[in-house]
Amino acid sequence: MDHFTDAVIIGGGPAGSSCGIYLQRVGISNMIIEKRSFPKDKLCAGLVTEKTYRQLSKLIKTAVGTDVPDEIFCDKSKRIKLFYKDEPLTDSAVSSLFRLVFRRDLDGYLIETYKKTGGVLYENRTVKEYDLDNNTLSLDNGDTVKYKYLIGADGALSPTRKALGYKSPDYIFCTETFVPKTAAFDDNCVRIYFGYLNKGYVWVFPHKDTLCVGLGDEYRKKTEYEKVLRAFLLSNGLDDGSCKIKGAFIPYGECPDQKRGCKNAVLIGDAGGFADQITGEGLYFALSTGEAAANAVINALSGKADLKKEFCRQTAKFAEIVKHSAKKGKMFYMDPVMNAFRKKIKGKNGPVAYFCDNQISEYNYDYSDITKLFTDYKAGGR
Ligand SMILES: Cc1cc2nc3c(=O)[nH]c(=O)nc-3n(C[C@H](O)[C@H](O)[C@H](O)COP(=O)(O)OP(=O)(O)OC[C@H]3O[C@@H](n4cnc5c(N)ncnc54)[C@H](O)[C@@H]3O)c2cc1C
Repeated sequence: MDHFTDAVIIGGGPAGSSCGIYLQRVGISNMIIEKRSFPKDKLCAGLVTEKTYRQLSKLIKTAVGTDVPDEIFCDKSKRIKLFYKDEPLTDSAVSSLFRLVFRRDLDGYLIETYKKTGGVLYENRTVKEYDLDNNTLSLDNGDTVKYKYLIGADGALSPTRKALGYKSPDYIFCTETFVPKTAAFDDNCVRIYFGYLNKGYVWVFPHKDTLCVGLGDEYRKKTEYEKVLRAFLLSNGLDDGSCKIKGAFIPYGECPDQKRGCKNAVLIGDAGGFADQITGEGLYFALSTGEAAANAVINALSGKADLKKEFCRQTAKFAEIVKHSAKKGKMFYMDPVMNAFRKKIKGKNGPVAYFCDNQISEYNYDYSDITKLFTDYKAGGR
C-alpha cells in the first residue's frame, strides 16, 4: 500500500505524540510509525517536573480542551532528600510539585489523545529503507510512505538519526527496577544518592505502593551497573536479589548539529539528543521539541520559513541547556568538586530547595550560572 502524507513521524513516544497532536490541531496530514504496540512500558523514573507538567498541560488543552487528568499521576511529592552514599545531606521542602507517572500510562494516554484528534498510528511497524533523495520510506510490511517532512522521534538509539548520517551522541546508561515500598521509604520523598557512581546518581522515587529505584551514569563498558544497583537495594533492605533489573540509554552532550544534513528532516526528543545530563530529565525536551517540530512544519508548508532553520531557531534554547548541563555535569562529579559540594551543602535545606525550584523544576537559570543562583538565594531569591 502507498501512503502520502505531509509529515511522517517515526516513533510514538512523548516527542512523536506531541508533534503529531500539534499537527492535527491545524489539519496538516501526518502519521506516526511505531515499532511496538500500545500499551507498552518504557524504562523511566517517571518524574514530571513543573515545567514538564506545564508543557503537558498545554498539549492536552490544545488537543482536547481539557486539563491533564490527575489519575495519570501515580504519586506526588514536595520533599527531596539528598545523600552521599548512606550519609544524609539535606531534607528539603520544595515549592514546586514533583509528579510521578508510570510511563505505560503516560505514553498510552498521549497516543490515545493523538488518535482522538484523528491522528493515524501504525503500530508494530519499522522503516526498512530510507530513500531520502525521493522522500520515500519503505516499511517492513511492504508499504511505502511518501512524505514532505520527516520527523525522527525514535528514541535514544534512533535508527532515523543513523539514516540521516548524524553521529551517535554520548550516552548515560541507566538501570532500573520497581520494588514494593518499605516502611523506611514510606514518607513520600524523592531521594537522590551521590557517591555510588563515577558520574551519576542513584534515585529512589515513590510510585504508588512501589518504589522506582535506579541509577544513571556516564556509559562505560566496564562498569557493572546492575551489580551496583543490586548492592544498593540489598543494603537498604529493598530487595533480596530476586528483582528484575533492566537497562536503557539516555543521550547526553551536544545535540547533533541539525543545521546541516537533510533539509526536510529533523530529530526530536531523545533522537535529537535533547536530555539534561545532570538530572537525566528528557520528558520536558521531548514534549517541547515535538511542538517545535510541528511549528517548523507549519511554517515551512505555508512558505514562511525553511524547516531546518525554523526548527533550529525554535530549539536553540533547549540545545544550549543540553550543552551546559553536559559541561557542568562532567565537572560536578569530579572528586574534588563532589567532596566540596558534599561538605558545603550538608544541612543546607534552603539552598537545595531553591536550586530544585529554580533549576530543576524550572530553568530559571541556565547551568552556566549556578553561582548566581546561590547568590540570589542569599539575597532572598529573585
Ligand atoms: C531509566 C531512565 C529513567 C528516566 N527518568 C526520567 C524522568 O524521571 N523524567 C524525565 O523527564 N525523563 C526521564 N528519562 C528520560 C526520558 O525517558 C526520555 O527522555 C523520553 O522518553 C524521551 O521521549 P522520546 O519520545 O524522545 O523517546 P522515547 O520515549 O524513547 O520514544 C521513542 C519511541 O520510538 C519507538 N521506536 C524506537 N525505534 C523505532 C523504530 N525503528 N521505528 C519506529 N519506532 C521506533 C519506541 O518504541 C518509542 O515508542 C529517563 C530515561 C531512562 C532510560
